[in-house]
Amino acid sequence: MRAVNKGNSPRTYTRYQDARNDLGGRIDWHCSYCEMAITNMIEVEHIVPRDNGGAPLDWENFLLSCKYCNTVKGARNPSRTGYIWPDRDNSDLAFDYSEAGGITAKPTPVRTEALATIELMGLDRNPGMPNEPTKADSRWIFRLQSWQIAKYSFENWQDSPSPQMANQIALTAKGMGFYSIWVKVFENEPEVLEQLRSEIIGTHYVIDSHNNRIPRPSGII
Ligand SMILES: [Zn+2]
Repeated sequence: MRAVNKGNSPRTYTRYQDARNDLGGRIDWHCSYCEMAITNMIEVEHIVPRDNGGAPLDWENFLLSCKYCNTVKGARNPSRTGYIWPDRDNSDLAFDYSEAGGITAKPTPVRTEALATIELMGLDRNPGMPNEPTKADSRWIFRLQSWQIAKYSFENWQDSPSPQMANQIALTAKGMGFYSIWVKVFENEPEVLEQLRSEIIGTHYVIDSHNNRIPRPSGII
C-alpha cells in the first residue's frame, strides 16, 4: 500500500465530491488501498466514515478509492485506530506482495493493524484463496495483469537498461497502478525505483542518512 503525501488542504469544500480532482492531482489517480489505477467511478473516500462521526468535508479525512475498496470498507471502521492508513503511515512497510499470494502482512510491530486493514478493504480476495472475490470484484484481474506486465518490463530492463527505459517503465506503472507490485519486481533496481517514486504523484518516501526509512511522525509505522 503506497504511502502518500496529500499536503495541506488546497481549499475548503462544500461538497466532498469536489475534492476528487484535487486529490488526483496530489496523490495520482490510483486507489489509495488496492493501488489499482482508476479512470472512472473514482470515489472520494472518507477514512473515518461519516456514519461514525468522520468529518464529511475535511481534507484530512479524504483519500481516493476505487468502487470495490470503498464498498467493502463501508462504515465498518469506527475510527482510524487499529488500521494502517497510507496518508498517515509508511504503509508500504507493513505489507508484502507476491504474484501467487496477493497481499500479506509483514512481520512488523503493526502486523495486527496490517491484517485488519487487509480485511477491511478485502484486499486478499483472490480466486482459490480463502477469501474468494465476488463476481463484481475485478481487482484481482488487474492485479495479475500488472504482475505480468511488470515482469515483462523487467526482462526489457535487463536487455537494455537505460534512463529512458527506466522512465518508460515508471510511466507504464503510473498508467496501470499497483505501485507495490512494480516496487517488488524492481526491488534491486534503484534507477527504476527512483523513477517510480517520481512519476507516480504524491508518493511519500523519506530516508535518513543511513538509507533507512524514517517512521512518519504522525504514524504507527
Ligand atoms: Zn481499491
